[in-house]
Amino acid sequence: MSEKRPFITLEQARQIVKDYPTPFHLYDEAGIRSTARTLRSAFSWNVGFKEYFAVKATPNPFILSILREEGCGVDCSSETELMLSRACGFAGQEIMFSSNETEAHEFALANSMGAVINLDDYTLIETLEEGCGGIPQTVSCRYNPGGDFSIGNEIMDQPKDSKYGMTRAQLTQAYRVLMEKGARRFGLHAFLASNTLTNAYYPTLARILFETAVELHRETGAHIAFINLSGGIGVAYRPEEPANDIAVIGEGVRRAYEEVLVPAGMGDVAIYTELGRFLLASNGALLTTARHEKHTYKEYIGVDACACNLMRPAMYRAYHHITVLGKEDAPCDHVYDVVGSLCENNDKFAIDCRLPRIDRGDLLYIHDTGAHGYSMGYNYNGKLRSAELLLRRDGSVQMIRRAETPADYFATLDFAGLDLPGRRA
Ligand SMILES: *Cc1c(COP(=O)(O)O)cnc(C)c1O
Repeated sequence: MSEKRPFITLEQARQIVKDYPTPFHLYDEAGIRSTARTLRSAFSWNVGFKEYFAVKATPNPFILSILREEGCGVDCSSETELMLSRACGFAGQEIMFSSNETEAHEFALANSMGAVINLDDYTLIETLEEGCGGIPQTVSCRYNPGGDFSIGNEIMDQPKDSKYGMTRAQLTQAYRVLMEKGARRFGLHAFLASNTLTNAYYPTLARILFETAVELHRETGAHIAFINLSGGIGVAYRPEEPANDIAVIGEGVRRAYEEVLVPAGMGDVAIYTELGRFLLASNGALLTTARHEKHTYKEYIGVDACACNLMRPAMYRAYHHITVLGKEDAPCDHVYDVVGSLCENNDKFAIDCRLPRIDRGDLLYIHDTGAHGYSMGYNYNGKLRSAELLLRRDGSVQMIRRAETPADYFATLDFAGLDLPGRRA
Protein backbone atom coordinates (compact mmCIF):
# COMPACT_ATOMS: atom_id res chain seq x y z
CA MET A 1 0.00 0.00 0.00
CA SER A 2 1.44 3.31 -1.07
CA GLU A 3 1.25 6.23 1.26
CA LYS A 4 -0.34 9.45 0.19
CA ARG A 5 1.65 12.38 1.50
CA PRO A 6 0.56 16.00 1.19
CA PHE A 7 2.95 18.32 -0.64
CA ILE A 8 2.80 20.76 2.29
CA THR A 9 3.21 20.42 6.04
CA LEU A 10 0.90 21.66 8.77
CA GLU A 11 3.36 24.50 9.44
CA GLN A 12 3.25 25.62 5.80
CA ALA A 13 -0.56 25.37 5.79
CA ARG A 14 -0.77 27.48 8.95
CA GLN A 15 1.36 30.15 7.31
CA ILE A 16 -0.85 30.14 4.19
CA VAL A 17 -4.15 30.41 6.06
CA LYS A 18 -2.87 33.54 7.81
CA ASP A 19 -3.19 35.29 4.42
CA TYR A 20 -5.83 33.21 2.69
CA PRO A 21 -8.76 31.73 4.59
CA THR A 22 -9.88 28.19 3.81
CA PRO A 23 -11.28 26.72 1.67
CA PHE A 24 -8.90 27.05 -1.29
CA HIS A 25 -7.28 24.93 -3.93
CA LEU A 26 -3.49 24.86 -3.75
CA TYR A 27 -1.28 23.74 -6.65
CA ASP A 28 2.33 22.60 -6.55
CA GLU A 29 4.44 24.19 -9.28
CA ALA A 30 7.40 21.85 -8.80
CA GLY A 31 5.11 18.81 -9.05
CA ILE A 32 3.40 20.11 -12.19
CA ARG A 33 6.73 20.74 -13.92
CA SER A 34 8.14 17.40 -12.91
CA THR A 35 5.03 15.50 -14.08
CA ALA A 36 5.09 17.36 -17.41
CA ARG A 37 8.76 16.44 -17.83
CA THR A 38 8.24 12.74 -17.12
CA LEU A 39 5.45 12.74 -19.73
CA ARG A 40 7.64 14.44 -22.30
CA SER A 41 10.51 12.11 -21.60
CA ALA A 42 8.26 9.03 -21.93
CA PHE A 43 7.40 10.09 -25.49
CA SER A 44 10.78 11.60 -26.43
CA TRP A 45 11.22 8.77 -28.98
CA ASN A 46 8.55 10.47 -31.11
CA VAL A 47 9.89 13.57 -32.87
CA GLY A 48 6.55 15.35 -33.20
CA PHE A 49 5.20 14.48 -29.75
CA LYS A 50 3.08 17.15 -28.07
CA GLU A 51 0.85 17.22 -25.02
CA TYR A 52 -2.24 19.40 -25.41
CA PHE A 53 -3.32 19.98 -21.83
CA ALA A 54 -7.10 19.65 -21.42
CA VAL A 55 -7.94 23.20 -20.32
CA LYS A 56 -11.24 22.13 -18.74
CA ALA A 57 -9.29 20.25 -16.06
CA THR A 58 -7.64 23.38 -14.61
CA PRO A 59 -8.49 26.55 -16.51
CA ASN A 60 -6.11 28.94 -14.77
CA PRO A 61 -3.68 31.23 -16.65
CA PHE A 62 -0.80 30.60 -14.23
CA ILE A 63 -1.16 26.83 -14.57
CA LEU A 64 -1.46 27.09 -18.35
CA SER A 65 1.62 29.32 -18.50
CA ILE A 66 3.68 26.85 -16.49
CA LEU A 67 2.59 24.08 -18.85
CA ARG A 68 3.40 26.24 -21.86
CA GLU A 69 6.94 26.70 -20.50
CA GLU A 70 7.12 22.91 -20.26
CA GLY A 71 6.31 22.61 -23.97
CA CYS A 72 2.60 21.81 -23.72
CA GLY A 73 -0.17 23.08 -25.96
CA VAL A 74 -3.82 23.26 -24.95
CA ASP A 75 -6.95 21.31 -25.76
CA CYS A 76 -10.05 23.53 -25.71
CA SER A 77 -13.69 22.52 -25.76
CA SER A 78 -15.47 25.88 -25.92
CA GLU A 79 -15.14 29.44 -27.15
CA THR A 80 -14.30 30.69 -23.69
CA GLU A 81 -11.50 28.16 -23.31
CA LEU A 82 -10.18 29.27 -26.70
CA MET A 83 -10.23 32.90 -25.52
CA LEU A 84 -8.50 31.96 -22.27
CA SER A 85 -5.80 30.08 -24.16
CA ARG A 86 -5.29 33.00 -26.54
CA ALA A 87 -4.98 35.35 -23.56
CA CYS A 88 -2.28 33.02 -22.17
CA GLY A 89 -0.24 33.31 -25.38
CA PHE A 90 -1.14 30.04 -27.07
CA ALA A 91 -1.48 30.34 -30.82
CA GLY A 92 -1.89 28.33 -34.00
CA GLN A 93 -1.18 24.63 -33.86
CA GLU A 94 -0.43 24.79 -30.13
CA ILE A 95 -4.21 24.74 -29.76
CA MET A 96 -6.49 21.77 -30.29
CA PHE A 97 -10.23 22.37 -30.46
CA SER A 98 -12.11 19.21 -29.45
CA SER A 99 -15.74 20.08 -29.00
CA ASN A 100 -19.03 18.43 -29.77
CA GLU A 101 -22.45 19.75 -30.81
CA THR A 102 -20.34 22.60 -32.16
CA GLU A 103 -21.74 25.71 -33.83
CA ALA A 104 -20.29 27.50 -36.86
CA HIS A 105 -19.18 30.54 -34.85
CA GLU A 106 -17.18 28.30 -32.52
CA PHE A 107 -15.34 26.76 -35.47
CA ALA A 108 -14.84 30.26 -36.83
CA LEU A 109 -13.06 31.40 -33.67
CA ALA A 110 -10.89 28.28 -33.50
CA ASN A 111 -9.99 28.64 -37.17
CA SER A 112 -9.18 32.34 -36.84
CA MET A 113 -6.69 31.40 -34.11
CA GLY A 114 -5.15 28.75 -36.37
CA ALA A 115 -6.15 25.96 -33.96
CA VAL A 116 -6.28 22.33 -35.04
CA ILE A 117 -9.92 21.37 -35.25
CA ASN A 118 -10.89 17.89 -34.10
CA LEU A 119 -14.24 16.99 -35.66
CA ASP A 120 -16.60 15.01 -33.45
CA ASP A 121 -19.12 14.11 -36.11
CA TYR A 122 -19.54 13.58 -39.82
CA THR A 123 -22.46 16.02 -40.01
CA LEU A 124 -20.22 18.77 -38.61
CA ILE A 125 -18.28 18.97 -41.90
CA GLU A 126 -20.92 21.36 -43.23
CA THR A 127 -20.86 23.43 -40.04
CA LEU A 128 -17.06 23.55 -40.21
CA GLU A 129 -17.20 24.74 -43.81
CA GLU A 130 -19.76 27.37 -42.90
CA GLY A 131 -17.78 28.63 -39.90
CA CYS A 132 -14.39 28.70 -41.63
CA GLY A 133 -15.55 29.78 -45.08
CA GLY A 134 -14.05 26.56 -46.43
CA ILE A 135 -12.29 23.53 -45.00
CA PRO A 136 -9.00 24.15 -43.15
CA GLN A 137 -5.82 22.50 -44.47
CA THR A 138 -5.51 20.41 -41.32
CA VAL A 139 -8.46 18.53 -39.84
CA SER A 140 -8.61 15.83 -37.19
CA CYS A 141 -11.46 13.33 -36.83
CA ARG A 142 -12.65 11.68 -33.66
CA TYR A 143 -13.21 7.92 -33.83
CA ASN A 144 -15.69 5.85 -31.83
CA PRO A 145 -15.24 2.14 -32.53
CA GLY A 146 -18.49 1.24 -30.72
CA GLY A 147 -18.89 -1.98 -28.70
CA ASP A 148 -17.09 -2.51 -25.43
CA PHE A 149 -13.52 -1.34 -25.04
CA SER A 150 -11.62 -4.06 -23.24
CA ILE A 151 -8.04 -4.82 -22.28
CA GLY A 152 -7.58 -8.57 -21.81
CA ASN A 153 -10.79 -9.69 -20.12
CA GLU A 154 -11.48 -6.41 -18.46
CA ILE A 155 -14.08 -4.08 -19.95
CA MET A 156 -12.75 -0.55 -19.48
CA ASP A 157 -15.67 1.39 -20.91
CA GLN A 158 -18.47 1.17 -23.42
CA PRO A 159 -17.86 3.33 -26.49
CA LYS A 160 -21.21 2.08 -27.89
CA ASP A 161 -22.95 4.19 -25.24
CA SER A 162 -20.74 7.24 -25.70
CA LYS A 163 -22.01 10.27 -27.59
CA TYR A 164 -18.59 11.10 -28.99
CA GLY A 165 -16.91 10.35 -32.28
CA MET A 166 -17.66 8.83 -35.68
CA THR A 167 -18.22 5.24 -36.70
CA ARG A 168 -15.53 3.49 -38.69
CA ALA A 169 -17.47 3.90 -41.96
CA GLN A 170 -18.09 7.59 -41.24
CA LEU A 171 -14.35 8.12 -40.73
CA THR A 172 -13.52 6.94 -44.23
CA GLN A 173 -16.34 9.00 -45.67
CA ALA A 174 -15.31 12.07 -43.66
CA TYR A 175 -11.68 11.82 -44.84
CA ARG A 176 -12.86 11.48 -48.47
CA VAL A 177 -15.23 14.45 -48.30
CA LEU A 178 -12.72 16.61 -46.40
CA MET A 179 -10.04 15.82 -49.00
CA GLU A 180 -12.41 16.77 -51.82
CA LYS A 181 -13.06 20.03 -50.03
CA GLY A 182 -9.37 20.82 -49.67
CA ALA A 183 -8.03 19.27 -46.45
CA ARG A 184 -4.41 18.10 -46.85
CA ARG A 185 -3.22 17.02 -43.39
CA PHE A 186 -5.21 14.70 -41.20
CA GLY A 187 -5.34 13.69 -37.58
CA LEU A 188 -7.06 10.79 -35.86
CA HIS A 189 -8.33 10.96 -32.28
CA ALA A 190 -10.17 8.75 -29.79
CA PHE A 191 -10.96 8.84 -26.08
CA LEU A 192 -12.23 5.41 -25.04
CA ALA A 193 -11.83 5.22 -21.27
CA SER A 194 -11.47 7.71 -18.44
CA ASN A 195 -9.18 7.65 -15.39
CA THR A 196 -7.59 4.35 -16.35
CA LEU A 197 -5.22 2.73 -13.88
CA THR A 198 -3.46 0.35 -16.19
CA ASN A 199 -0.30 0.92 -18.18
CA ALA A 200 -2.02 -0.99 -21.01
CA TYR A 201 -4.66 1.68 -21.80
CA TYR A 202 -2.66 3.97 -24.07
CA PRO A 203 -0.80 1.14 -25.86
CA THR A 204 -4.10 -0.70 -26.54
CA LEU A 205 -5.78 2.48 -27.75
CA ALA A 206 -2.70 3.42 -29.79
CA ARG A 207 -2.68 0.08 -31.60
CA ILE A 208 -6.37 0.51 -32.54
CA LEU A 209 -5.72 4.03 -33.81
CA PHE A 210 -2.49 3.05 -35.63
CA GLU A 211 -4.22 0.17 -37.44
CA THR A 212 -7.16 2.41 -38.31
CA ALA A 213 -4.79 5.10 -39.58
CA VAL A 214 -3.02 2.62 -41.86
CA GLU A 215 -6.41 1.49 -43.25
CA LEU A 216 -7.60 5.06 -43.73
CA HIS A 217 -4.40 5.98 -45.53
CA ARG A 218 -4.76 2.99 -47.87
CA GLU A 219 -8.47 3.65 -48.50
CA THR A 220 -8.28 7.37 -49.09
CA GLY A 221 -4.64 8.27 -49.68
CA ALA A 222 -4.95 10.87 -46.92
CA HIS A 223 -1.76 12.14 -45.33
CA ILE A 224 -2.12 11.36 -41.65
CA ALA A 225 0.16 13.73 -39.79
CA PHE A 226 -0.75 12.98 -36.17
CA ILE A 227 -2.56 10.56 -33.93
CA ASN A 228 -4.09 11.95 -30.76
CA LEU A 229 -4.41 9.52 -27.85
CA SER A 230 -6.46 12.11 -25.95
CA GLY A 231 -6.91 11.95 -22.15
CA GLY A 232 -7.78 9.08 -19.89
CA ILE A 233 -4.61 8.21 -18.01
CA GLY A 234 -5.67 8.08 -14.39
CA VAL A 235 -4.14 8.78 -11.03
CA ALA A 236 -4.25 6.62 -7.90
CA TYR A 237 -6.91 8.43 -5.90
CA ARG A 238 -6.90 5.60 -3.34
CA PRO A 239 -3.73 4.80 -1.42
CA GLU A 240 -4.05 1.10 -2.25
CA GLU A 241 -4.28 1.69 -5.99
CA PRO A 242 -1.18 1.18 -8.13
CA ALA A 243 -0.06 4.35 -9.87
CA ASN A 244 0.49 4.41 -13.62
CA ASP A 245 4.06 4.40 -14.87
CA ILE A 246 4.23 6.86 -17.73
CA ALA A 247 7.62 5.54 -18.90
CA VAL A 248 6.12 2.06 -19.30
CA ILE A 249 3.10 3.58 -21.07
CA GLY A 250 5.31 5.55 -23.49
CA GLU A 251 7.35 2.43 -24.22
CA GLY A 252 4.14 0.42 -24.90
CA VAL A 253 2.98 3.04 -27.39
CA ARG A 254 6.44 3.04 -29.02
CA ARG A 255 6.26 -0.74 -29.53
CA ALA A 256 2.83 -0.49 -31.22
CA TYR A 257 4.19 2.37 -33.36
CA GLU A 258 7.18 0.28 -34.48
CA GLU A 259 4.98 -2.72 -35.20
CA VAL A 260 2.10 -1.02 -37.02
CA LEU A 261 2.98 2.42 -38.36
CA VAL A 262 6.65 2.05 -39.29
CA PRO A 263 6.17 -1.04 -41.55
CA ALA A 264 3.32 0.80 -43.29
CA GLY A 265 5.69 3.63 -44.18
CA MET A 266 4.03 5.95 -41.66
CA GLY A 267 7.00 6.39 -39.33
CA ASP A 268 6.66 10.18 -39.46
CA VAL A 269 3.31 10.36 -37.64
CA ALA A 270 3.37 12.62 -34.57
CA ILE A 271 1.83 11.41 -31.32
CA TYR A 272 -0.33 13.84 -29.40
CA THR A 273 -1.85 13.50 -25.94
CA GLU A 274 -4.54 15.58 -24.21
CA LEU A 275 -4.03 14.67 -20.60
CA GLY A 276 -5.64 16.74 -17.89
CA ARG A 277 -5.94 14.54 -14.84
CA PHE A 278 -2.56 12.86 -15.18
CA LEU A 279 -0.70 16.18 -15.22
CA LEU A 280 -2.61 18.09 -12.59
CA ALA A 281 -4.78 15.97 -10.29
CA SER A 282 -2.12 14.98 -7.75
CA ASN A 283 -0.43 18.36 -7.98
CA GLY A 284 -3.42 20.09 -6.41
CA ALA A 285 -5.27 19.81 -3.12
CA LEU A 286 -8.31 21.34 -1.49
CA LEU A 287 -7.58 22.79 1.94
CA THR A 288 -10.51 23.04 4.31
CA THR A 289 -11.02 23.59 8.03
CA ALA A 290 -13.01 21.33 10.35
CA ARG A 291 -15.85 23.46 11.71
CA HIS A 292 -18.23 21.22 13.62
CA GLU A 293 -18.74 17.78 15.02
CA LYS A 294 -22.18 16.29 14.90
CA HIS A 295 -23.14 13.09 16.72
CA THR A 296 -26.43 11.62 15.54
CA TYR A 297 -26.81 8.24 13.87
CA LYS A 298 -23.31 8.73 12.57
CA GLU A 299 -20.30 10.83 13.44
CA TYR A 300 -20.05 13.87 11.20
CA ILE A 301 -17.27 16.37 10.72
CA GLY A 302 -18.54 19.53 9.03
CA VAL A 303 -15.95 21.44 7.01
CA ASP A 304 -15.92 24.86 5.36
CA ALA A 305 -15.60 23.43 1.82
CA CYS A 306 -18.54 21.82 0.07
CA ALA A 307 -19.38 20.06 -3.19
CA CYS A 308 -19.34 23.47 -4.90
CA ASN A 309 -15.56 23.42 -4.39
CA LEU A 310 -15.14 19.78 -5.41
CA MET A 311 -17.99 18.06 -7.15
CA ARG A 312 -16.47 14.68 -7.90
CA PRO A 313 -17.49 12.89 -4.69
CA ALA A 314 -21.09 14.13 -5.01
CA MET A 315 -21.29 13.49 -8.73
CA TYR A 316 -19.46 10.19 -9.17
CA ARG A 317 -19.05 9.04 -5.58
CA ALA A 318 -15.39 9.55 -6.37
CA TYR A 319 -12.89 8.83 -3.63
CA HIS A 320 -10.57 11.63 -2.52
CA HIS A 321 -8.11 10.74 0.18
CA ILE A 322 -8.04 13.02 3.23
CA THR A 323 -5.05 13.81 5.41
CA VAL A 324 -5.54 15.67 8.68
CA LEU A 325 -2.49 17.93 8.62
CA GLY A 326 -0.21 17.41 11.58
CA LYS A 327 -1.79 14.02 12.24
CA GLU A 328 -0.16 12.23 9.30
CA ASP A 329 1.14 9.48 11.54
CA ALA A 330 -1.68 9.36 14.11
CA PRO A 331 -3.72 6.14 14.26
CA CYS A 332 -6.88 6.13 12.13
CA ASP A 333 -9.09 5.06 15.00
CA HIS A 334 -12.18 7.16 14.28
CA VAL A 335 -14.88 6.68 11.61
CA TYR A 336 -16.36 9.83 10.16
CA ASP A 337 -18.49 11.25 7.41
CA VAL A 338 -16.74 14.46 6.34
CA VAL A 339 -19.43 16.77 5.00
CA GLY A 340 -19.99 20.20 3.49
CA SER A 341 -22.83 22.58 4.23
CA LEU A 342 -24.98 22.22 1.09
CA CYS A 343 -28.66 21.38 1.35
CA GLU A 344 -27.87 18.19 -0.55
CA ASN A 345 -27.24 14.94 1.21
CA ASN A 346 -24.61 13.93 -1.35
CA ASP A 347 -22.37 16.77 -0.13
CA LYS A 348 -19.92 14.39 1.52
CA PHE A 349 -16.17 14.32 0.96
CA ALA A 350 -15.88 11.03 2.83
CA ILE A 351 -18.34 8.42 4.03
CA ASP A 352 -17.49 5.97 6.82
CA CYS A 353 -13.90 6.97 6.52
CA ARG A 354 -11.24 5.85 9.01
CA LEU A 355 -9.36 8.94 10.09
CA PRO A 356 -7.45 10.18 13.10
CA ARG A 357 -9.50 12.02 15.69
CA ILE A 358 -10.50 15.37 14.18
CA ASP A 359 -10.74 18.47 16.33
CA ARG A 360 -12.42 21.74 15.46
CA GLY A 361 -9.94 23.94 13.64
CA ASP A 362 -7.96 21.05 12.19
CA LEU A 363 -6.80 21.62 8.63
CA LEU A 364 -7.89 18.89 6.25
CA TYR A 365 -5.94 18.27 3.06
CA ILE A 366 -8.18 16.71 0.41
CA HIS A 367 -5.86 15.05 -2.09
CA ASP A 368 -5.80 15.00 -5.87
CA THR A 369 -8.09 17.94 -6.59
CA GLY A 370 -5.79 19.63 -9.12
CA ALA A 371 -7.81 18.47 -12.14
CA HIS A 372 -11.58 18.59 -12.55
CA GLY A 373 -11.72 20.13 -9.06
CA TYR A 374 -12.07 23.90 -8.99
CA SER A 375 -13.18 23.83 -12.62
CA MET A 376 -16.30 21.79 -11.90
CA GLY A 377 -17.31 24.26 -9.19
CA TYR A 378 -20.71 25.85 -9.04
CA ASN A 379 -22.76 28.33 -7.02
CA TYR A 380 -25.56 26.21 -5.58
CA ASN A 381 -26.95 27.45 -2.26
CA GLY A 382 -25.32 30.79 -3.04
CA LYS A 383 -21.89 29.33 -2.33
CA LEU A 384 -19.02 31.36 -3.68
CA ARG A 385 -16.09 29.88 -5.55
CA SER A 386 -12.87 29.69 -3.58
CA ALA A 387 -9.45 31.11 -4.34
CA GLU A 388 -6.76 29.16 -6.17
CA LEU A 389 -3.22 29.40 -4.82
CA LEU A 390 0.11 28.33 -6.25
CA LEU A 391 2.97 26.98 -4.19
CA ARG A 392 5.97 28.31 -6.09
CA ARG A 393 9.21 26.40 -6.47
CA ASP A 394 10.88 28.78 -4.00
CA GLY A 395 8.29 27.90 -1.37
CA SER A 396 6.36 31.16 -1.65
CA VAL A 397 2.61 31.14 -2.20
CA GLN A 398 0.90 33.21 -4.86
CA MET A 399 -2.81 33.79 -5.28
CA ILE A 400 -3.61 32.83 -8.87
CA ARG A 401 -7.34 33.41 -8.63
CA ARG A 402 -9.12 35.37 -5.93
CA ALA A 403 -12.13 33.99 -4.14
CA GLU A 404 -15.53 35.15 -5.33
CA THR A 405 -17.33 37.79 -3.31
CA PRO A 406 -21.07 38.40 -3.08
CA ALA A 407 -20.55 41.13 -5.72
CA ASP A 408 -19.54 38.39 -8.20
CA TYR A 409 -22.68 36.47 -7.34
CA PHE A 410 -24.80 39.55 -7.97
CA ALA A 411 -22.93 40.64 -11.10
CA THR A 412 -25.20 38.77 -13.51
CA LEU A 413 -28.40 39.92 -11.83
CA ASP A 414 -30.30 43.06 -12.73
CA PHE A 415 -32.55 44.61 -10.11
CA ALA A 416 -33.24 47.77 -12.08
CA GLY A 417 -36.36 46.45 -13.77
CA LEU A 418 -37.94 45.33 -10.52
CA ASP A 419 -40.34 47.45 -8.55
CA LEU A 420 -38.73 46.79 -5.20
CA PRO A 421 -39.73 48.35 -1.90
CA GLY A 422 -37.16 50.90 -0.81
CA ARG A 423 -35.87 51.33 -4.38
CA ARG A 424 -38.68 53.53 -5.61
CA ALA A 425 -37.66 57.06 -6.54
C1 LIG B 1 -11.76 15.66 -20.70
C2 LIG B 1 -10.97 15.46 -21.93
C3 LIG B 1 -9.59 15.24 -21.86
C4 LIG B 1 -8.84 15.12 -20.55
O1 LIG B 1 -9.24 14.00 -19.83
P1 LIG B 1 -8.47 13.55 -18.50
O2 LIG B 1 -9.34 12.51 -17.91
O3 LIG B 1 -8.34 14.74 -17.65
O4 LIG B 1 -7.15 13.01 -18.95
C5 LIG B 1 -8.89 15.13 -23.03
N1 LIG B 1 -9.51 15.22 -24.24
C6 LIG B 1 -10.83 15.43 -24.36
C7 LIG B 1 -11.44 15.53 -25.70
C8 LIG B 1 -11.61 15.54 -23.20
O5 LIG B 1 -12.92 15.73 -23.32
